[in-house]
Amino acid sequence: MEKERDIVTDGASLPVVEEFFSLQGEGFQTGKAAYFIRLGGCDIGCSWCDSRFSWNPGLHPMVETQSIIDRVIESGADSVVVTGGEPLMWTLDLLCKGLKTINICTFIETSGGYPLSGTWDWICLSPKKNMPPTSEICQIADELKVIIQDKSDFEWAEKYHGMVSRECRLYLQPEWSRFDTIIPEIVKYIKKNPIWRISLQVHKYMHIP
Ligand code: SF4
Repeated sequence: MEKERDIVTDGASLPVVEEFFSLQGEGFQTGKAAYFIRLGGCDIGCSWCDSRFSWNPGLHPMVETQSIIDRVIESGADSVVVTGGEPLMWTLDLLCKGLKTINICTFIETSGGYPLSGTWDWICLSPKKNMPPTSEICQIADELKVIIQDKSDFEWAEKYHGMVSRECRLYLQPEWSRFDTIIPEIVKYIKKNPIWRISLQVHKYMHIP
């Protein structure tokens, strides 16, 4: 995986899994219209991953970053969400520079395990046990979104609560396949620890990407 990353260190082209204009379905920005750019490549291997199709960047075309920016302009969106895969496997400075030039808000969804690149208006950090985030990204994350699969994940969530800033918004999100069993536990936990909020993947209820 590292080999593919080295090929495009300047970020002039990126492996694009899909692009679409939709509504953010998760976390603090839920309900906001945004242009989504899903990049290929992830070597973290979460057992419950719902984006396995994105793991191998070699399966997705390398697309010129400027042409991605052109499609953002055509869409009319005022914000972009860069997601993956793990988007920080790639250098995102050129993408963000181009988007900021046209006054597009830049949001990223990342596990935080790779060095930060790009300029971001909103960083949503979703830490993963297989590759914990760097302390640098913990300090500047705007939002901490922890996926809850079982009760042991609350302890994991609190560990990162202790590493992010006081301003960082805190979300617990049920792992989709365990939704029915874990929701009562999350509700109970948030009632006892009201600094946390719940994040639901509302795009799945709306049947939109
Ligand atoms: Fe899937 Fe994200 Fe985990 Fe990568 S970090 S395996 S894309 S859930």
